[in-house]
Amino acid sequence: LIKVEGLHKIYGDFHALNGINEEIHKGEVVVVVGPSGSGKSTFLRSLNLLEVPDQGHIYFEGVDITDKHVDINKHRQKMGMVFQHFNLFPHKTIKENITLAPLKLLGKSKEEADKRAMELLERVGLAEKADSYPSQLSGGQKQRIAIVRSLAMDPDVILFDEPTSALDPEMVGEVLELMKQLAREGMTMVVVTHEMGFAKEVGSRVIFIDSGQIKEQAKPDEFFDNPKDPRLQEFLSKIL
Ligand code: ATP
Ligand code: MG
Repeated sequence: LIKVEGLHKIYGDFHALNGINEEIHKGEVVVVVGPSGSGKSTFLRSLNLLEVPDQGHIYFEGVDITDKHVDINKHRQKMGMVFQHFNLFPHKTIKENITLAPLKLLGKSKEEADKRAMELLERVGLAEKADSYPSQLSGGQKQRIAIVRSLAMDPDVILFDEPTSALDPEMVGEVLELMKQLAREGMTMVVVTHEMGFAKEVGSRVIFIDSGQIKEQAKPDEFFDNPKDPRLQEFLSKIL
């Protein structure tokens, strides 16, 4: 679904990504872990070209989206993104937040977009919040809405950048539960997270990024029980 070839990203004289090669297949849940500043967000944001690579190629559904002639917006629509800080529009209602992109980008009618938004809201048990504003919701609710908003575009993959890191501990569970549900339904997901429980339970693969490079990747059991890279061993000893 996504193929990354020889990806480099350089800020000034800092090499944030240093030759990443990776392939993400349909239906996989790929969990990305690594120390702070190692390049996890940069990697994730490169996948939908929020960061433009300095070198290398990203293929999405067979199309080289790093090619200057490609209409990136068309492809980006199929890649949902969920951020640490929700990024909901504060002056729009929940329903408006969800329908904005389908109305504008998919050309849906208001009826269609509203209907789909309400179905999705029912599904996550937040239908009664349709006409509320983001500030009236808890952090966990806001993040579930952010996920619903990305689902409203029927994405082929959703990229999550530390979706639970800004939440109070008691709200982490409800967001992870929704993500697990999506995983069970076969959604392709790339998830940067510190939630090792999620990685073990739901991950198809775990990737360790350090200093802008993928130092190790394996199925969760192997990754956590038998890490080979010394930096990964050190990383795990600190967090587990
Ligand atoms: P964290 O766990 O703290 O979120 P991360 O692994 O996501 O870290 P990145 O955000 O990808 O790390 O950043 C990698 C490195 O690139 C960091 O050292 C960061 O300071 C640097 N960096 C990121 N974005 C920029 C930018 N726009 N300009 C300059 N440097 C940047
Ligand atoms: Mg980050």
